[in-house]
Amino acid sequence: MSVAGATVAPMTPASSSKTGSKTATGATDENPPAAEPDEQVAGRCFGDGDPLYAAYHDDEWGVPVHGEAALFERIALEGFQSGLSWLTVLRKRPAFREVFADFDPRTVAGFGEDDVTRLLADGRIIRNRAKIEATIGNARALVALNDAGTSLDELFWSYAPDRGDGSRRASRPATWQDVPATSDASTALSKDLKKRGFRFVGPTTMYAAMQACGLVDDHLATCPVVTARA
Ligand SMILES: [Zn+2]
Repeated sequence: MSVAGATVAPMTPASSSKTGSKTATGATDENPPAAEPDEQVAGRCFGDGDPLYAAYHDDEWGVPVHGEAALFERIALEGFQSGLSWLTVLRKRPAFREVFADFDPRTVAGFGEDDVTRLLADGRIIRNRAKIEATIGNARALVALNDAGTSLDELFWSYAPDRGDGSRRASRPATWQDVPATSDASTALSKDLKKRGFRFVGPTTMYAAMQACGLVDDHLATCPVVTARA
């Protein structure tokens, strides 16, 4: 699964590493650290040992996200994450929000070459021309989608598994090995978005976005977030 993910998402070299199936699971690259013994004390899926990372795990990962700017931001940041650790992206998130106008799609859609130059010069973010240009291109694709009468929110959420009872997964994964890197829905969502002009939206990245935006809830059965909700 991780190999297939790496193939369709060439910007995720980490997913072909020995931690492949783990890196591909949503919060992606941060899973390997979660496997280190000293970070299993609190038993989170990931994030133990780093307050920012732990807070992301506790309060955001798997929690439903709605709205054009919010979803655009998640998709963009998952794209920027490819090949890096999620914690790196998380630490840079405030700067990303600042330089990308809080991910307002219409503002970013209007970015030109001078903005690309500005962003490439800003050491607070991930300075990758392809990812920056893809983000601007995705904003334009999103605006085109909106102008055609469809929201990213409805398109994205149409790929959420419908179990008919409001639940977001059939059974909770016991270990990271039980968490997929991609799904039929993430592959279909990827195809749909690519058809509409989005880039850096491979099935692995989209599965990660589905986890991050709560379309699926992949917290492990032993996770304190799960046991606290029960
Ligand atoms: Zn968890």
